[in-house]
This record gives sequence, structure tokens and C-alpha cells, in this order.
Amino acid sequence: MMKCVICKSGETCEGQTTVTLNRGESTIIIKDVPAQICENCGEYYLSEEISAKVMALAENTVKHNAEVEILRFVA
Ligand SMILES: [Zn+2]
Repeated sequence: MMKCVICKSGETCEGQTTVTLNRGESTIIIKDVPAQICENCGEYYLSEEISAKVMALAENTVKHNAEVEILRFVA
């Protein structure tokens, strides 16, 4: 648990979020990403390990030139 740096009043708790990324022409939507989520404003924070995996998924989408890809995060 930590203090949210966006709204500075909420605290985060363990949850899952949907991450949307834009890379050039590609949009990648990744569901069920484990994150710390602010209970006040909904801002999410990804651990280093999780963001690395999210980035790897995004790179893959860009590689096969998908315009929009919707994925489910699998740890
Ligand atoms: Zn917040």
C-alpha cells in the first residue's frame, strides 16, 4: 500500500486494471493487469516486473502490425 502521487489523498490497494497503450499506429489494450490502484482517483501503478511484461506484449503487437489488439494479461 502506498499514497497516490496523483491525487495525494487516496491510498492504493491490490487489484486489476486495464492498460491501454499507443505505439505508433497500434493500440494495445491489456485486461486483467495486476496493479496497485488508488481507491480515490483510480490511478494505477504497475510494478517493474509487470510493466516489463506489458511492454513486451505491446512490442509483439507492433511487430505484427495489428492496429488494435485486446489481450488478457497472463502472469
Ligand atoms: Zn489517487
